[in-house]
Amino acid sequence: MDIVKCKRCRKIFQKMAARKVCPECLQTEEADFLKVKTHLHDFPGDDVNQLSKATGVDRHLVIEFIRGGRVKMNSSLIPDELYTDCPRCGQQTLNVRFCEQCLKYLSKNLSGQEPVQKSDAPSQNTRTEFHFKNLIRDSDRL
Ligand SMILES: [Zn+2]
Ligand SMILES: [Zn+2]
Repeated sequence: MDIVKCKRCRKIFQKMAARKVCPECLQTEEADFLKVKTHLHDFPGDDVNQLSKATGVDRHLVIEFIRGGRVKMNSSLIPDELYTDCPRCGQQTLNVRFCEQCLKYLSKNLSGQEPVQKSDAPSQNTRTEFHFKNLIRDSDRL
């Protein structure tokens, strides 16, 4: 059983699938996702910054939605910084690792093997522990 720290609220929770956030934050993220999606539907011309500002959703989260393919944005509105070079063909891609074509190619050729996802969550193991002493004493009686 894996115990991980929530990326958002730093709470410790039991890891499920590839989730990086606890169930509570997942709900918040879902709500944020809907906000972003709805806004983009009404204002398809908004870029990441405008989107983040208008919805109040953290820019990084908006970027994550785009990267994860959950939010489809006009490619001309996606900032260059979001693109990485595909290590296989050198093409610019929004995907974390390989570009769409290479992913298709690889999954066809390596059937059964999932594309490896980079997980670079900072490993903070500093856990504050509180020791509560029993400080209850008989108060002075008059
Ligand atoms: Zn959380
Ligand atoms: Zn490629």
